[in-house]
Amino acid sequence: MLNDEIVPYLVDMTAQSDRIGLIDGLVKTLNKFTSASLVRFFDLHQKAVKEQQTSGFLIEYVLHEPLSPMSKAIHVGEIQGLAQVIGQSSHTFVPIMRLASDQGEQLVFALVEGSKVRSVLHLETPKLDVQDEVMSRLFWNMFVNLERTIRAKDQDPLTGLLNRRSFDETISTILDCSMNDSEINRLGGEGACLAVFDIDHFKRVNDTFGHAIGDEVLILFARQMERMFRVADILYRFGGEEFLVILLDVDVIKARAALERFRESIATHRFPQVETVTVSIGFVMVNGRDFPPELIEKADKALYYSKENGRNQVNGFDDLVREGLLASIAHGSEEDVEVWG
Ligand code: GH3
Ligand code: MG
Ligand code: MG
Repeated sequence: MLNDEIVPYLVDMTAQSDRIGLIDGLVKTLNKFTSASLVRFFDLHQKAVKEQQTSGFLIEYVLHEPLSPMSKAIHVGEIQGLAQVIGQSSHTFVPIMRLASDQGEQLVFALVEGSKVRSVLHLETPKLDVQDEVMSRLFWNMFVNLERTIRAKDQDPLTGLLNRRSFDETISTILDCSMNDSEINRLGGEGACLAVFDIDHFKRVNDTFGHAIGDEVLILFARQMERMFRVADILYRFGGEEFLVILLDVDVIKARAALERFRESIATHRFPQVETVTVSIGFVMVNGRDFPPELIEKADKALYYSKENGRNQVNGFDDLVREGLLASIAHGSEEDVEVWG
């Protein structure tokens, strides 16, 4: 019963080459062709929160709407029925659930990866009819297939973080948006920060414990990044044991605090067999003048300073320059010698 009205929506969804566009297409389509009063798409994240008694970290599930990336995450319990879906173990798993709630009826679709729920689609309606269910199943199944292809292109296969290709393709847009936002919030002085991470003495990990254990450390390192940074922050594996993060909506004090918190969480984490691993970090605040390659170069110089001065530390490019510490490195390095004079 495919009617003429649906065809352009189908075409639009299948034409999408980025994940946000695809999610947007799904939500718009279901808003139009079902009786749902509310259609929402969430990504599920595990987040570390500081626990009072032990001052350790507690991991909890939060939901984030990728369609409004700057919005804060909400607790799973805030949406009736969702905790029920997410709490299921893999063998009792029902990826599509119909639930009755105070608000009426709900349809919940779960996107599962490696026996864990990664995303959910949530439809709320006073009364679901059969047609709603048929339509939403059709578009959901199509979405799941398309999303898998899109993600594979942007993802680092080992850690599941975004890859370098994705960074190169989207970084200019991300930085433009974050600068525009910070213009609006000028009084708050918030902006974006680019930070590069390099695991310390990682070659030793491979040499001592083997490549497979090395890979395991990289995966656990990436999970820790996901837990420690905010849902809106953008996380990349840049290659090898090097990672990159874009922190959004931060000033230099907040950025440094978040990076220190992460550095410490790695230094105190117990990795299987290897036990302890540390990370060196360099960062730069996005200023609207530097292009991405220049920002990376500055963050890299701050990282290099961290490496040269004992590793397991965080340094910001602008602070180092202000304190006269980075200039001494820059003058001494061959890269800065002009060769065309
Ligand atoms: P530094 O503290 O100066 O950063 O020392 P390092 O040993 O971490 O740095 P170096 O660049 O000498 O070595 C990085 C090592 O990372 C070398 C390489 O074998 C390892 N490596 C790169 N990619 C992968 C990977 O995908 N898996 C594993 N297991 N190891 C990798
Ligand atoms: Mg390296
Ligand atoms: Mg290293």
